[in-house]
Amino acid sequence: MNYTEILQSQKTFFNSHKTKDLNFRKTQLKKLKNLIKKHENQLYEAIYKDFGKSEFETFGTEISFIYKDIDYYLKNLNSLAKPKKVKTNIVNQLGSSKIYREPLGNCLVIGAWNYPYQLTLTPVVAALAAGNTCIIKPSELPENTMKAMARLINENFDSAFLYVVEGGVEETTEILKLKFDKIFFTGSPRVGKIVYQAAAEHLTPVTLELGGKSPAFITENADLEVAARRIVWGKFINAGQTCIAPDYLYVQENIKPKFIEILLFEIKKRNYHENAEHFCKIINERNFDRLEKLINKEKVIFGGETHREKRYISPTVLDHVTWEDTVMQEEIFGPILPILTYKNLDEAIEKVIEGEKPLSAYIFSNNAKEQTKILEKLSFGGGCINDTLMHISNHHLPFGGVGNSGLGNYHGKFGFDAFSHQKAILDKSIYLEPELKYPPYTDGKLKILKKLL
Ligand code: NAD
Repeated sequence: MNYTEILQSQKTFFNSHKTKDLNFRKTQLKKLKNLIKKHENQLYEAIYKDFGKSEFETFGTEISFIYKDIDYYLKNLNSLAKPKKVKTNIVNQLGSSKIYREPLGNCLVIGAWNYPYQLTLTPVVAALAAGNTCIIKPSELPENTMKAMARLINENFDSAFLYVVEGGVEETTEILKLKFDKIFFTGSPRVGKIVYQAAAEHLTPVTLELGGKSPAFITENADLEVAARRIVWGKFINAGQTCIAPDYLYVQENIKPKFIEILLFEIKKRNYHENAEHFCKIINERNFDRLEKLINKEKVIFGGETHREKRYISPTVLDHVTWEDTVMQEEIFGPILPILTYKNLDEAIEKVIEGEKPLSAYIFSNNAKEQTKILEKLSFGGGCINDTLMHISNHHLPFGGVGNSGLGNYHGKFGFDAFSHQKAILDKSIYLEPELKYPPYTDGKLKILKKLL
């Protein structure tokens, strides 16, 4: 079957209204969870082959997210899908008003490679919970995980409901020509624009989960040990190949020497050596070469070791970095941590504002005024005060970017919203019928109208 035929079969299936039944949705979500559970080991093996990601990290940062989301929807689906009663304004009395949730229809989910299971399947879980069908296009870069997901889904679900397309740019370009009711894309801002343009052709709504350069501010009021520990973890997990990783550090000048000392101690303690099971490889040679070029040897104060065959880049810290350095011209997406220095927090914030709006920002400070200043002045997708990455793990928070880092959000209730239409219905009584709105219009009616509205 070609893509047009698969989508056509999904349209037919959606129009049979089966996905609107909440029990159908719950059964599919349970089935997906059971399948992942049954094949968990194969999923771990596949991702290990692709970029050496350990079972610990794969469970903690990928599989557990999928389970958690499925459990959330199983528990909350009835209330999420239930029509919500809202107030009715005076001109619509006697009447009642409700917001009905309806699935958008036939969805396309395009995944990124860096957390291939989480970033591909959690949007799919939200799409199914909201009652849609789905075509899934995982990233082709981690080939084994792409194939593992394709096997898991295509061998167990009807393609008229759920189908994984294997392939890269050529295949995605073909699929993007089709008319979907929703496209959910995770990836780079560059490809995000291509997806957005293709969606515009059919007026298809999109969620774009993109990237950018996410800063971490470390002020003189930070707990430096806590900051170092949480930054090192957040930066080097997945070997820095994390969309919300702190891309660079912006450190207040007077505490910098002390902070660097603690930071380097913390990196050494975590022992991210060449054969460490807990340190991933760089995804491919192309990214390895790109990252190697970002390491300005004159500015390396820690690490800088590279091994192309093993696709290993050691945690590398660069100091005395300026906004003009190559490493500050693009999202790093690897284990390289540049340090910039500031004297005045307002000026530092202004410098960040000059760039694109980041996907995340992290504020290490115990001073409420400093925290508020950064929160109020800087626009970014989401982040943490005194931590890194962990906001993504709270499904009560929406996850997404703003401006160049994305459009829309998901997780928990917000994922359900991303794949639903809110149908607004006024239910009007047939008994009360004021003459006011009907012609002929009179001065008396106009007076009342002006008072009422
Ligand atoms: P990418 O944009 O290169 O690829 C993403 C997807 O788009 C893949 O499935 C790929 O096959 C497809 N694609 C690539 N080129 C295409 C083209 N020309 N036409 C159509 N489809 C195309 O991104 P990536 O390398 O997989 O991921 C890295 C980027 O994603 C980083 O910028 C990172 O910050 C961002 N990211 C964002 C999030 C988030 O949740 N906001 C999560 C992970 C990654």
